[in-house]
Amino acid sequence: MKPETDAIRIQTERTAQNEHSAPLYLTSSFMFDDAEHMRAAFADETDDNIYSRFSNPNVQELVDKMCALEGTEAGFATASGMSAVFASFMAFLKAGDHIVACSSIFGSTHTVITKYLTRWGISYSYFDVGRPEELESLIRPETKMIYAETPTNPGLGILDMAHLSSVAKKHGVLLNIDNCFATPALQRPADYGADLITHSATKFIDGQGRVLGGLVLGRRELIKEVYLFCRSTGPSLSPFNAWVLSKSLETLFVRMERHSANALVLAQALEKHPRVLRTSYPFLESHPQHTLAKQQMRAGGGVVTFEIEGGSEAGRRFLNALQFCSRTANLGDTRTTATHPASTTHAKLTEQERLQSGITPGLIRISVGLEHPDDVLNDIRQALDASAV
Ligand SMILES: *Cc1c(COP(=O)(O)O)cnc(C)c1O
Repeated sequence: MKPETDAIRIQTERTAQNEHSAPLYLTSSFMFDDAEHMRAAFADETDDNIYSRFSNPNVQELVDKMCALEGTEAGFATASGMSAVFASFMAFLKAGDHIVACSSIFGSTHTVITKYLTRWGISYSYFDVGRPEELESLIRPETKMIYAETPTNPGLGILDMAHLSSVAKKHGVLLNIDNCFATPALQRPADYGADLITHSATKFIDGQGRVLGGLVLGRRELIKEVYLFCRSTGPSLSPFNAWVLSKSLETLFVRMERHSANALVLAQALEKHPRVLRTSYPFLESHPQHTLAKQQMRAGGGVVTFEIEGGSEAGRRFLNALQFCSRTANLGDTRTTATHPASTTHAKLTEQERLQSGITPGLIRISVGLEHPDDVLNDIRQALDASAV
């Protein structure tokens, strides 16, 4: 089947009621016919569910769909994107190891790498999204993993996954790609040789701002390690959230197409707006990695960033002037959301640190929703007019 069909048709076994929509398996544990059946399940001789910290039919349906979409053998679903990222590190890294990551990554991932991994003797090096050729020189004998997002959050930089993968293969290290911004509807990192694919399912996979969730996907032998780590430490996804997310996948392709089409309309309009100094969107010709983005991605995705004239104060006024676009940190929602990173998510950094991560004072991040693009554009235009300092 085509992925669009798998996203809709893959399903867990149904009960004797012949439900069309998946039933919800809200149960913490599962029963056995006899002691021998129970022994065999615990000995991993059967695939039977034992306990929802290990596996659950709703969680498995989500994982099976995501494996079909990402083109991977196996996966494990977690309670949030961050628990997926964390598990993808902890299952493979130990004291003395080293990780090379792109410097432009999600804020909490940066905290996990710099504050926690280092505390356990795992060191790191960052390479710049604009200088991927530096990557190879950062690899050491103790390097075990390359970690990157593409597109990056919030900079929207694009990394060449084939290049990352060739460096990883040459040095025998794992390539771990956070595919949260593109989703498998727009790009499949496994096709370029990524070993691990991590997701925050909270964003475009849910797509409606309801639940948190995450996934790690990859080859069977690698996911076995992630499973063993999670089975013991417990960041497992709840069956209810898995049920919601599995339903969400049924509309992922349609949504990503529309998010991308609306985002392109907005990006093209912003590029011509006199109050906008610079617009970033992977499918704009002015994007520095535009050709690469077109090769790797089916469409540009739902996030647009721009630099407003007038710096931080103009950014603040812009947010205040928005009439229906939501001032909220989430992205990937049906509703258009807006943030001003310099005064919120990145306010604790120094000006210098912000600039290093590409957060200029007037940077605005828009996650373009599924409303009619004219309405989104009109709200953003009137807020831009009202933002002049
Ligand atoms: C939001 C996000 C995460 C973390 O996901 P949560 O579900 O919020 O824990 C990780 N990576 C990227 C790129 C994100 O945008």
